[in-house]
Amino acid sequence: MERVILHCDLNAFFASVEEVRNPELRAYPVAVCGNPKKRHGIILAKNEKAKSFGVKTAETIWQAQRKCPGLVLVPPHYKDYSKYSKIVNDIYLSYTDLVEPFGIDESWLDITGSAHLFGTPEKVADDIRRVVREETGLTVSVGVSFTKSFAKLGSDYKKPDATTVINQQNFKDIVWPLPVSDLLFVGKSAKATLERLGIFTIGELANSSKPMVSSLLGKAGELIHDYANGKDDTPVTSAFAASDRKSIGRGITFPDDLTDLSQIKTGITALSEDVAARLRKHKQKASVVSLTVRDPAFRTTSRQMTLPFPTHLESEITKSCLDLYIKYYAEKGKPVRMLTVTVSSLISEDLAGGDQLSLLDDGSDNEKRESIELAIDNIRKKFGRDAMTKGSLLKSEFHIREKDEE
Ligand SMILES: [Mg+2]
Repeated sequence: MERVILHCDLNAFFASVEEVRNPELRAYPVAVCGNPKKRHGIILAKNEKAKSFGVKTAETIWQAQRKCPGLVLVPPHYKDYSKYSKIVNDIYLSYTDLVEPFGIDESWLDITGSAHLFGTPEKVADDIRRVVREETGLTVSVGVSFTKSFAKLGSDYKKPDATTVINQQNFKDIVWPLPVSDLLFVGKSAKATLERLGIFTIGELANSSKPMVSSLLGKAGELIHDYANGKDDTPVTSAFAASDRKSIGRGITFPDDLTDLSQIKTGITALSEDVAARLRKHKQKASVVSLTVRDPAFRTTSRQMTLPFPTHLESEITKSCLDLYIKYYAEKGKPVRMLTVTVSSLISEDLAGGDQLSLLDDGSDNEKRESIELAIDNIRKKFGRDAMTKGSLLKSEFHIREKDEE
């Protein structure tokens, strides 16, 4: 199956965080630099306005000031950069647990298994951009592709705050005209070697003789030749290993504010289904369920409950979240902009034990439900994620729930 990989790159990260810390800076050309008092200090980052004056990262302060006399210099605030990096990676983690940071302001996400929740991969990318912008004031460019190297090129292709899709149909048009040095792992010396061979663009590399490139650049030559041809099955390696994970969550931001209970139920069900599938995949059960709701004014509140026993069942998680929603939000008729379902207090399945009493019914029904959900997992494993979503089985589950609430 073709993978769906995103590369998310925060735009002018340090300078943007400075603008969030002090919005007045937005009106000026701004550069973050090591030591503003020392003229030989170096520019670490610049905002869009400074860029339009030709200010470049890594040049000295006096070089930058010559081009842009009104340049406002600010010292770096690394603690805030780490803080925002974590907030943004947590947003990514609400879309997939396969998130691999590459430096402080870039991450790859493998969303092959979760894109269906949001429609198309492009929609996921647009949604991520919107949520990052709304929650942090920062912007991110996203590349969507079937390999990590192409996704990275995509995030660089249009900036700031843009989505670029590079697929099997368009990669020759988009990627091949780019300079070969844009490709991941093509540094200065590899670039010089390739240019001596008359290879200036990624397309020229793709169509060059692979043995020739590898004779000069070794294994790395083979690798970049493959990358240029869209052959790169390097996995997105989660930086957040399953064993250290303290919670599993999934969120969705709705294009419109929701007040209708049945739509909210559908959202909660889809999110719980996903969270439960991830728990079962990691052979874990959870005993705390929380529901996070954001209203149209971006006020975010969470409510949680502890289950009488650990679970990995979608039905239990959905039921708990619906209870939380009805108890804390529904009565006040508050519109909902975003929902996140999170489970925590995770323990290994083996330790949790199997036949516990259910929240919903007696143990026998719970067993039945467990075997239904495990059967759905197996069908999905065999036939793909969409083979069985909220089919008739789960519709009847809904019915059961509605009865429970009466
Ligand atoms: Mg960046």
